[in-house]
Amino acid sequence: MSQGIIHSVIVPLYNEELVIDESYRRLKAVMDSTNEKYEIIFINDGSKDRTKLKADVICKKDKNIKLINFSRNFGHQAAITAGMDIALGDAIIVIDADLQDPPEVMLKMIEKWKEGYEVVYGKRAKREGETFFKKFSAKMFYRILKSMSSVDIPVDTGDFRLIDRKVCDSLKSLPEKNRYVRGLVSWVGYKQTFVEFVRQERFAGETKYPLKKMIKLAVDGITSLSYKPLALAGYLGGITLTLGGISLIINIVKAIVNNLSVINIETMFSMNLIMFGLIFCVLGMLGQYIGRIFDESKGRPIYIVESITSYREEQENNELRKISNQ
Ligand code: UDP
Ligand code: MG
Repeated sequence: MSQGIIHSVIVPLYNEELVIDESYRRLKAVMDSTNEKYEIIFINDGSKDRTKLKADVICKKDKNIKLINFSRNFGHQAAITAGMDIALGDAIIVIDADLQDPPEVMLKMIEKWKEGYEVVYGKRAKREGETFFKKFSAKMFYRILKSMSSVDIPVDTGDFRLIDRKVCDSLKSLPEKNRYVRGLVSWVGYKQTFVEFVRQERFAGETKYPLKKMIKLAVDGITSLSYKPLALAGYLGGITLTLGGISLIINIVKAIVNNLSVINIETMFSMNLIMFGLIFCVLGMLGQYIGRIFDESKGRPIYIVESITSYREEQENNELRKISNQ
């Protein structure tokens, strides 16, 4: 079924007419140097420029290239998912088209894979040619996500990574739609390691990740791996309720000591705090249920089995040998 293909390289493309030729040249040079059978899968994610035309030309002259054309722009994560769905290789590498992830790093990833690692992610030691805002927001996001999630998500890594066939098949078994692929790779587990690299400046063109798409990716990342934000209302409610309770006691005592009516503006304010606190606590409780419903609706398997080992036959044979020796 795999047609002897060892490596599959997945390259999502959205309006990349300025980079596709150079990207192909560099990817081909690196993959040829492995002397192993490979395929490069271009996923044209509904580009509006000449990306499709150019990819078609490359595809026609090089039989190692496959091209998937989406009917419209479905987004980077959908493009990667489609690539994984058709990849035939034993090792699958996801890389951006714009050469920010240097193709030569793939060789280091392949080396680690041959050592026995099943996930090798690219860790950005440094990012060049990106705005302060992009670097800062990315740094903050990866750290917030790590602190919120119960799975160990490596910081400063994008989708540039190699995964083993086993990992790819596990990812394919996850039916959820709003995918944050790099988080799901952490979630499925397996033996993981990283190689460090310097993220380069874009070869040409502009980022295809405007703020709106970045926010969507961040929200997908957080909501798919944690429902702590839903519990936030509960914490807020708890704090407000406690503050309301304390201030009510103080205000009542103050009113009694000063011989004033207990029903005054201050005690009313405290009562208000208590009521808000109660409402938020109930919202937090609802959040817990909604979180669990959300978890169930994602339809993820409860566990993923990497392998099953049984020494039963061996033990039984040993027993038999013992008996026959007696
Ligand atoms: N991309 C895509 N669909 C999109 C947006 C981006 O397939 O809707 C591809 C894009 O062509 C590139 C990769 O995803 O190969 C990463 O995008 P980009 O380099 O623009 O993101 P940045 O590096 O600026 O975060
Ligand atoms: Mg880029």
